[in-house]
Amino acid sequence: MNEWITGPRDDASERRRRVVAAALRAAYAWSVRRRFPLAMREVAMMTGVVMEVHGPGRGPASPAALIDCLRAPLGELPVFDGSSDDEDSAIADAVLLDRHDRMTPEVDDLICEYALPLAGTFAAEAWLPTWTRMHADHIRQQAFASLIETRSQEDYVASRKFLIDHPAGSREELAELVSTMGVRVVFRGYTEIPAERRYHVNPDTQWWWPCPVCAWPMSVAGRTVRCRYRPHTSVFRIVSGKTSLSRPGLTAVDEGPRATRPEARPVRDAVCLDAGVWRFVVVPGASELRLCRALEEQGAEVRLWPELDSYDLYVLAGEDTFRIDVKEYRSVHRLIADLRAKPPQARVLLPRTHEHQLDAVKAALPSLDMTTETRFRAQVRRALKKEGRTS
Ligand SMILES: [Zn+2]
Repeated sequence: MNEWITGPRDDASERRRRVVAAALRAAYAWSVRRRFPLAMREVAMMTGVVMEVHGPGRGPASPAALIDCLRAPLGELPVFDGSSDDEDSAIADAVLLDRHDRMTPEVDDLICEYALPLAGTFAAEAWLPTWTRMHADHIRQQAFASLIETRSQEDYVASRKFLIDHPAGSREELAELVSTMGVRVVFRGYTEIPAERRYHVNPDTQWWWPCPVCAWPMSVAGRTVRCRYRPHTSVFRIVSGKTSLSRPGLTAVDEGPRATRPEARPVRDAVCLDAGVWRFVVVPGASELRLCRALEEQGAEVRLWPELDSYDLYVLAGEDTFRIDVKEYRSVHRLIADLRAKPPQARVLLPRTHEHQLDAVKAALPSLDMTTETRFRAQVRRALKKEGRTS
């Protein structure tokens, strides 16, 4: 897990990643500094990381100067000078703090793909959310560490599926499901619905809405409600109930591919998964389960996360078998960097929301075995047909 220490220090893209990771953590710390006294120390430490990457005389040289930079596009930091066209322009354009010094929801789901462990901040772990300080593999490993110890593939799959299908709900409802299904809820488990995902009618009446795709609480900003993960595209507007006690409704602003309108649920007694587990287990998991169910409907046999998560799907279609790793990244550049650093154990599949990344990944990694959801489902269909003819 310390590969970043021994990694090539003169690699410009890795230096930018360190700056982005430090900027992310500084921005988060700044946004919560009134609640957490340790936050200012974190901002100072992250300033140190940014200064060390830039070297003397370049870039922000104090915490206040770093915070100023976080209110402007990241690409203005000197570490991005001379970055080539194929660098990630979405990251260079990202502004982390809005004018009220809150984290901008537009970028946090993108930027968390850049999170990585940085040295010297372990004391901050209790309050710093996982997605600001750990990369995806690390979060997944922690979430499933105790399940993997049991070495039971069946328990592992049941518990992981449970988190994906139930990323939020009422405490009572979840407790009952956990006990009837015999699954294990691990790591940080469930916590209260965070403030930015609640709609306050009055201090005693608050509501939340599950995302139609991932079922995690959507963000509420003013009267606009949407999932923090941008590829889950539906955007809604709140319609107040008849009285302050009645349930508010939603209307779709931007009819995404799914126009299902979720129903408001009371915040009282409701809980949801940690943001890191949501982002790196539930979000990709929603696609993995959707794909698994679609392939099963086609007539294939599918095993999820085989060999305790060596890859995502083992697919048996007629006489053909396939090993599939679903990759769902907002940043195609992070995807390429991660595939280079850790070659996959199976064929890489881009889900339908990410099929447009195929050409960029193929150009960067021409020998990589990869496909898209559309192509793969067609291949499975052919394999099943072939079997139909021969048997
Ligand atoms: Zn969602």
